[in-house]
Amino acid sequence: MNQTFDYIVCGAGSAGCVLANRLSANPGNSVLLLEAGGRDTNPWIHIPVGYYRTMHNPATDWCYVTEPVPGFNDRRIKWPRGKVLGGCSSINGLVYIRGQREDYDHWRQLGNMGWGFDDVLPYFLRSEGQTRDTEPGDDGFHASDGPLVVSDPRVHRPLCDDFIAAAENVGVPRRDDFNGAVQEGVGYFQTTIDRGRRCSTARAFLHPEKRRKNLKVITGAHIEKILFDGRRATGVRFRQGNQVLEAGASGEVILSAGAIGSPQILELSGVGAGQELQALGISCVHDLAGVGENLQDHMQVRSVYKTTRPMTLNNEVHSLFGKAWIGIQYLVGRSGPMAMAASHVSAFTRTTPDVASPDIQFHFQPLSADAPGKGLHPFSAYTSSVTQLRPESRGTVHIQSPVASEYPRIQPNYLSAQRDCDVTVAGLKLSRKICSQPPISAKTASEYLPGLEVDSDTALLEYARQSGETIYHPTSSCVMGTGKDAVVDERLRVHGLDRLRVADASIMPTIVSGNTNAPTIMIGEKAADMILEDN
Ligand SMILES: Cc1cc2nc3c(=O)[nH]c(=O)nc-3n(C[C@H](O)[C@H](O)[C@H](O)COP(=O)(O)OP(=O)(O)OC[C@H]3O[C@@H](n4cnc5c(N)ncnc54)[C@H](O)[C@@H]3O)c2cc1C
Repeated sequence: MNQTFDYIVCGAGSAGCVLANRLSANPGNSVLLLEAGGRDTNPWIHIPVGYYRTMHNPATDWCYVTEPVPGFNDRRIKWPRGKVLGGCSSINGLVYIRGQREDYDHWRQLGNMGWGFDDVLPYFLRSEGQTRDTEPGDDGFHASDGPLVVSDPRVHRPLCDDFIAAAENVGVPRRDDFNGAVQEGVGYFQTTIDRGRRCSTARAFLHPEKRRKNLKVITGAHIEKILFDGRRATGVRFRQGNQVLEAGASGEVILSAGAIGSPQILELSGVGAGQELQALGISCVHDLAGVGENLQDHMQVRSVYKTTRPMTLNNEVHSLFGKAWIGIQYLVGRSGPMAMAASHVSAFTRTTPDVASPDIQFHFQPLSADAPGKGLHPFSAYTSSVTQLRPESRGTVHIQSPVASEYPRIQPNYLSAQRDCDVTVAGLKLSRKICSQPPISAKTASEYLPGLEVDSDTALLEYARQSGETIYHPTSSCVMGTGKDAVVDERLRVHGLDRLRVADASIMPTIVSGNTNAPTIMIGEKAADMILEDN
């Protein structure tokens, strides 16, 4: 192709689509957006419940698998990542959560000026298309003009209401808005669903702008490396089918390939731990030891409770009439189970009063399965999964070959820090406590998983090691900061190199206390502003 653009955005995921939109808003800027996956034409992408079809599907998911995880009894874990326009926002669980004020204030305390909560709030608002009634300046936490639709669930199931009431009975306050002044509490999630259809970042930020002549989007384009002239990024090399192509960037190259893809591309390009790269036969452009280090993720451990009578989605999907009714609800009113996010209700709370803000999150689902994405159980049951919000365990992601198509080695190192073990066990106990409270206790027949016989701390931890899974939030493999492990500075420029930035979930200095899609979209918004200011 050998064409030159002002900006090349590498990866069309949650952050990449935002960047492509904002950078090309000025017709004077030419922008190339490269995406390894295909167009988002699969109808299941757009139906909220479709993540059951798009996750673990090689047409839309990279289908990564981790190395054996010691803290998980050496189990390998599936790590889905979106490989399609919209990236993970096209296959995710649709939950809209920003995290806690303290997360961003902590980033600023680490030396990242401009990343405190008050600094980043305007970027959350810029993208937000809140469907609740909000007057400008209402409470300052929401905006309705942005392209990313944020809406309330259309259906409230009685069992979800029961879980909320039971959590209130153990002292968790009811919360109608997790993204307002206070996150702590229990209530329904808001979601990125627009009148029954998924609002991915491709749908929100790319498709409305497809007529822009200065924005070129190429799918099926697997980026193999960044091209350098000395220390200056000048373009990228990518493979499309059998062809190897190059594109030049007269302005900047921006990596938005996600927490796996961005460190992988850097290492393939000779940016990373020099000795390790040389051992793979890659000549080192810049020795930057932090690339691929500090990997963080939220893990989930699920408790499953059988109900006294049929009342969960398990029953509906296992009956012909139930299935037909689910289909009719969606076809007629874009409502019902097909229009719902992966989890319906959440609780953010503390395992001990000693922590300054909630340290665990529950995801409640009126359904159950042996593992996320597997077929629902043939009996009626519900799931309460617990997630530690600020894990201390740190993992790594590194290439194992100079060949771009070979997957990197992912080691999340779950449950390697004692604190993570303690918080997880405390969370499992709290789940049990909530589900034994009225009104949900009256509908609960028995604890199916882990089962009441699993009652000591040691046994509960063993259950977590045996059954824990990712909740799909990898971050921080190219952290922003100033220390020896930092990969980018506070303006997301790669340390020691020119005209190269990283802008996606990989730059989070520490994982946020909540689901990671909205924070990544915020990073895309803020990165676009900084790039336009600096050029
Ligand atoms: C199954 C699942 C459920 C989730 N549920 C939720 C949820 O309910 N709520 C929430 O807030 N978060 C959720 N998340 C997490 C959230 O979606 C992600 O944190 C967020 O989308 C990450 O955005 P990103 O821009 O960093 O990366 P991505 O969205 O992964 O984008 C990276 C893009 O780069 C492309 N790419 C990578 N390498 C290359 C290459 N070499 N060449 C070209 N292109 C490349 C990828 O194909 C991808 O499109 C979920 C994630 C998954 C996978």
